[in-house]
Amino acid sequence: MRFLLRIAPVLLTLFFIGCQGSLFQVHWDSRHDGHVDILKQEYEMRVTAYCPCEKCCGKSSDKTTASGHKIKRGDTFVAADRKYPFGTEMIVPGYNNSKPVKVLDRGYVIVGNRLDVFFDSHQKARQWGVKCLPVKVLTN
Ligand SMILES: [Zn+2]
Repeated sequence: MRFLLRIAPVLLTLFFIGCQGSLFQVHWDSRHDGHVDILKQEYEMRVTAYCPCEKCCGKSSDKTTASGHKIKRGDTFVAADRKYPFGTEMIVPGYNNSKPVKVLDRGYVIVGNRLDVFFDSHQKARQWGVKCLPVKVLTN
């Protein structure tokens, strides 16, 4: 029993950070006119959060994202791997009321199926913590 208790936190950590980046679902949404097809791919991603402060972005932070976007108060966007071009829309459950947000930034450690969601305060970013979530990627 003592042994089980000792390894329990380790297992929990593995569970939470062990996002495989696996593809859950792929489905197409066709608009009525038949012109636009939106491909929704759902990936399991490890989602962390950041804000424009020195702790999150370093001293050289100039409040501009890697895509050249000027950060405004209340902004919602994500930083994602290079395989997702700037402007790609994603739905992150629980972020921005689970409405689509755009990829507007990159991160040093944001590679593969890791994602960084943006908050305008450090406290909100810290509250988010680390989550393993099914993220929908929308592509035309
Ligand atoms: Zn911060």
